[in-house]
Amino acid sequence: MSDWRRVKKLVTENWQGTRLRYAVVVLILVLGSALAVLDPILYGKMVDVIVDALRDQHPETIVNGVAVLLALWIGVFVINVTLNIVGRYIFWKANNILGLNFACSAVRDMLSWSRQRFSRLSTGRTVKVFDQAWEALFWVPGDIVEQVIPTVLTFTAVVIAGLILDWRLTIASLIMLPIAIWLGYYGWKKARPKQEQLDHRWAALSRHVGESIGNISVVQDYAQEDRRARTFASLMRQVVVRQLRMNVFWALFHGTGSTLTLLGRAAVFIVGVYLVANGSTTLGTLITFLGMLNYLLSPIQHVIGNSLPRMSMGVSHLRLYTDLADEINDLKERDDAVPLKKIVGDVELKGVHFTYGDQSRATLLGIDLTIPAGTSCALVGPSGAGKSTLVKLINRTIDPTRGCVHVDGKDHCLYTLTSLRRHIGVVTQDTYLFHDTILNNVKFVKPNATEREVVHACKMAQAHDYIRRLPNGYRSIVGERGVKLSGGERQRIALARIFLADPPILVLDESTSALDSETEHRIQQTLKEVMKGRTSILIAHRLSTVYLADQIAVMERGKIVDIGTHDELIKKGGLYDRLWSLQSDGYIS
Ligand code: ATP
Repeated sequence: MSDWRRVKKLVTENWQGTRLRYAVVVLILVLGSALAVLDPILYGKMVDVIVDALRDQHPETIVNGVAVLLALWIGVFVINVTLNIVGRYIFWKANNILGLNFACSAVRDMLSWSRQRFSRLSTGRTVKVFDQAWEALFWVPGDIVEQVIPTVLTFTAVVIAGLILDWRLTIASLIMLPIAIWLGYYGWKKARPKQEQLDHRWAALSRHVGESIGNISVVQDYAQEDRRARTFASLMRQVVVRQLRMNVFWALFHGTGSTLTLLGRAAVFIVGVYLVANGSTTLGTLITFLGMLNYLLSPIQHVIGNSLPRMSMGVSHLRLYTDLADEINDLKERDDAVPLKKIVGDVELKGVHFTYGDQSRATLLGIDLTIPAGTSCALVGPSGAGKSTLVKLINRTIDPTRGCVHVDGKDHCLYTLTSLRRHIGVVTQDTYLFHDTILNNVKFVKPNATEREVVHACKMAQAHDYIRRLPNGYRSIVGERGVKLSGGERQRIALARIFLADPPILVLDESTSALDSETEHRIQQTLKEVMKGRTSILIAHRLSTVYLADQIAVMERGKIVDIGTHDELIKKGGLYDRLWSLQSDGYIS
């Protein structure tokens, strides 16, 4: 898709509430352009009245003759200024609405992307690209409406008025126009790819900063501050050098535009003086033309010198964004998806295959697994076997490349994503917390929960005692990603969330791995209670936490290699038996 098509698509997708406003702005601009032409005409007429009166030796007629023209001139000026203020207000309002519409829909869209898609992106870069696109969507249509359209309109009005007044001076005024158009085209073509390369470098820089801050503990723990800072400096230098080259290019461009303007004025002046001297035009007409040139050349100079560089940058930013956003959504909700209201909790995976986009080897190979409602199923097996990937398929944060997942006997793709996920509570080995209070972090899954409910959930998760001991209790801020809490404390907040959400299907992926043995034991007792009557899927390397599950699926290299109860699997003597023996030799009594 061409650059302008992309801009048009983004604008038209987000222009609800702006179209009428932009139309009014264009109307005001048309009026403004017409009035702008009147200004030098009236000015020229006044000069002619004075020159005629002096030539006829009737200076007393000057005041009468000029008074009406002066009044008109002031009137035109006042109307023009008023229109300008009103037009600008409507224009900025429309621009703000466009930016707002875009930002809201872009964030909503981004939040629906699959995990797989996010795993290909870096947060720093994505935020930068989004930020720049939002700004660009503010400037690009803005420059078109505020600069390009008025320039075209004024140009048309000036040419019409000029042809009526004196066609020879009109041609002299336009003599530099073809060169100016060519210059604009050349500048655009030359700058666009350079700007795009520059934008990629800016985005890489943001990724570097985002990663350094996001991984600050590993950077500091391994004393890599200097190296990261040096890499940043080198990336920044490359960006600055390119940015400077770009600035020099546009400065030269601006200078060339100014020179063309000067040459245009000179042409009109030379031709005008010649025509006045041989009496074929009046001095007033020449002054009118010189005045009109201001209205004609200044906007052209502005478009070339300011709008083109800004639009080139803006279009490049929008392209970067659309490259990111227009990637085919690998997690699309069906158009006829219906909300999933109540569920019993049967889960079934039928011939499920899955491959992460950037991998040649499949991660899951033909998984068939039935988990009847209200029962528990444990997934065990070596690291990298595909256990976490399998559970991501159940709540549809990724979709199978082949096969399907059924909930209560129906393909879960038939349901809307949010309604499906509301019925499935997931606690993973990594706990994600917001830079907010503990209370709000727990309430995140149920915003209308009362404080009593939150406290109850935290008690169940063995978190209440440590929360109470914090200086601000439930109102303590946990820091970004919960950095102010220990791993075990964070994990208990995640468990409190799931107890509060009370979903019919539970997924516990190493949900107690960060806890000390005593706390883990207490939570396991609570979990046993919570799991009663619920469909539960458990993942754990510590087999002592899962051996009581109704069925245990043993996974290896993307396949279920064995399935049964603990006793059955021990009797069979396969991989599970080996893992169990290894662990019971160590810490299982
Ligand atoms: P563990 O017990 O260590 O948590 P697991 O059995 O849960 O491991 P998964 O996390 O499902 O294993 O990973 C299975 C395979 O898929 C691994 O080889 C891993 O490298 C790969 N993988 C996981 N996530 C991604 C991703 N986002 N993109 C590409 N490959 C991935």
